[in-house]
Amino acid sequence: MKRHIILEGIRGSLNPFTTKYPKKSYIPPDGFRGAAEYDAERCVGCGACSQQCPPGAITYTDDEKERKLRLSYGVCSFCGRCEEVCPWDAIHLTKKYELAVYNREDAETGVDIPFFQCTECGRPFFPYPQMKASLEKVGETLAEYGIKQEELANLISLCPTCSFTVDKMPERRMFMRRLVK
Ligand code: SF4
Ligand code: SF4
Repeated sequence: MKRHIILEGIRGSLNPFTTKYPKKSYIPPDGFRGAAEYDAERCVGCGACSQQCPPGAITYTDDEKERKLRLSYGVCSFCGRCEEVCPWDAIHLTKKYELAVYNREDAETGVDIPFFQCTECGRPFFPYPQMKASLEKVGETLAEYGIKQEELANLISLCPTCSFTVDKMPERRMFMRRLVK
């Protein structure tokens, strides 16, 4: 019995079962679920990742100018749901795994998305990239009906308050009629 243990020890020291990390950096395999990161160029600020994140690691706050999305690595369970649900392919799990920090505030990533301003009162009220990307997406369909993107943009450019006070109903009716033709 003792001989077996000694032999195992010698074998283990000659050919270690463990890796040499942290002396030698560890290269994670493909499909490894490391820290999620935003692609600031692609994110439109829709908030779908935040709504779908099971442990609530992604939050957002809206201020006067922008939407601030924040992802806390301390809360994240690295499930990959955010990547799965993002309609704009704007968040991905990376192979980064060294996430130890001294302060909780440093264990996060995020992106700031500017708001679109109401064309009537100037109040920021909707993520600008989301509006732009959505209009581009329906652009082709609109073109089939001979409608320009700017026409739809004009109809949806009012904040909730102004949409009650500014009467765009006649234009909206005209727009709908052209769509159902
Ligand atoms: S675009 Fe993707 S990453 Fe950005 S807020 Fe929406 S779901 Fe999240
Ligand atoms: S990987 Fe999962 S837990 Fe982490 S932020 Fe994305 S959805 Fe939330």
